[in-house]
Amino acid sequence: MSKVEKTDAEWREQLSSLEYVVCREHGTERPFTGEYNACKKNGEYLCKCCGAALFDSAQKYDSGSGWPSFWEAGSAAHVVTREDRSHGMTRVEALCANCGAHLGHVFPDGPQPTGTRYCINSVSLNLKER
Ligand code: FE
Repeated sequence: MSKVEKTDAEWREQLSSLEYVVCREHGTERPFTGEYNACKKNGEYLCKCCGAALFDSAQKYDSGSGWPSFWEAGSAAHVVTREDRSHGMTRVEALCANCGAHLGHVFPDGPQPTGTRYCINSVSLNLKER
């Protein structure tokens, strides 16, 4: 998969304003508002911006946080992490490896077998049902 690079103007044209703020400006959708928070459909969650496969419903669970949560990145090669020191906190940010979209954050309080919680914005995702 080739890396996707677009200008801010191109992203603004492609995305809704909320999608742009979350994906390109590292924003966060309000909890319990996202399309996929309570979604139990089977399928693959693709990057809203570039279509890269990121997560799978097989690793989705209800964390109670108000955001779609996964205990593992189904397509780990397409999800990268980095330290995020914004907002006075030290967190681990999850991004799309293909286009740099902000996805959410990663916390060490998930269920077994990984103990990891990927806390992901619905608007960063696009469910491809199967
Ligand atoms: Fe992407």
